[in-house]
Amino acid sequence: MNALPLLAGAIALALSACSPSPAPDSTTAPAADTAPLATDDASEPALDAGAIDDPVATPVPMDADSRAADVAGCATILTSNDAMQFDADAIVIPASCASFTIHLTHVGTLPIGAMGHNVVIARAADMPAIVADGMAATPRHIKPGDTRVIAHTDMIGGGGSTSVTFDVALVREGGPYRFFCSFPGHLARMQGSLQVQ
Ligand code: ZN
Repeated sequence: MNALPLLAGAIALALSACSPSPAPDSTTAPAADTAPLATDDASEPALDAGAIDDPVATPVPMDADSRAADVAGCATILTSNDAMQFDADAIVIPASCASFTIHLTHVGTLPIGAMGHNVVIARAADMPAIVADGMAATPRHIKPGDTRVIAHTDMIGGGGSTSVTFDVALVREGGPYRFFCSFPGHLARMQGSLQVQ
């Protein structure tokens, strides 16, 4: 009987002894190779290999498979980073919610002009035009008065956070709907499905 707590304690100690050690190779990204990548293509924001290995950016789990955002009540938290990623590619809004809030955090360190992120909600078919029309609309990258935009957060840079609350009735029917970042060049990597279930 007495052995169980001791055993559990020993396991906890063993786990805690293992977990804090960061991968030693996370700091060995070859910085010398990354600089030329950004110079010859002005249409692509600089995304060097070093950013992906950035220890600040890596704690966010970024699975290749579909990952639904954790929803608590009628809200969720989306995390973004310097590697041009959201930590989820699906948001499922409970049908019982009248309104829904998306909190966006940016765990990177790059400034808004280099790696800005926002969350825009719109019909999937409207995404390309919203991004194209918002290209020149710095710093928010949403054309003022764009009626195709159902809801959007502010644009934030590294270390920032923001949120948006919207009426769920706006996305109950007429989809499919998507959430995405409207910063130029980010749409391909930063988008996901949004549905009411
Ligand atoms: Zn972005």
